[in-house]
Amino acid sequence: MVKIVVDNMLGNLARWLRVLGYDTVYSRKMQDSDILEIAIRENRVIITRDRGLHRRAVKKNLKSIYISPGLTDVVDILTLVAKSLNLAIRFDKGNTRCPLCNAKLDVVPKAQIASLVPPEVLNKYDIFWYCAKCHKAYWQGNHWKTINDAIEIIKSKLNTNSLGKNNY
Ligand SMILES: [Zn+2]
Repeated sequence: MVKIVVDNMLGNLARWLRVLGYDTVYSRKMQDSDILEIAIRENRVIITRDRGLHRRAVKKNLKSIYISPGLTDVVDILTLVAKSLNLAIRFDKGNTRCPLCNAKLDVVPKAQIASLVPPEVLNKYDIFWYCAKCHKAYWQGNHWKTINDAIEIIKSKLNTNSLGKNNY
C-alpha cells in the first residue's frame, strides 16, 4: 500500500488520508529537506502545495503531487490524489489510522474504552477504535455523515472521469 508524506500546509488532507487507512506522515515542524529525506528513506509519495519542493522532488526522481493554490476543497484534493495514485477511496473499519498521530487504530470492545468515552456515547454507538499512542477513543460521531458524504462524492467524481463520456 502506498505511503505518503504531506507538507505542513496540508494537515487537513493528512487527517483524511489517515482515516481512509493510508500511512501518512505530517508534521508542522518538517522542513523541505526533512520531507525529501523521509520520502527517500521510507519510499513515500510527496504531496505538497510548495512548487519549489515539488520541483526538487521530481529532480530527485521522487513521486510528488503538486496541489495548486486554486485547489482548496479537500474533496477536490482527495479526488486528484486518488486519481494520481490510483487509490481506493473507502472507509474500512479494520484499516483506519489515528487522524492525529497516524498509528493504526484497533477496533476495541466497549469495556476497554469505557473510561475514555461519555456514557451517552457509549450507549449510542457500537463500534469504537482506540489509539494506543494517543490513548484516545474514536467512534462514528456527528461528523461521520460529512465523511461518508465526501467519500460518495469522490467516488462519483472518479467514476465520471473514468467513463469519460458523461459530460455529453
Ligand atoms: Zn493517535
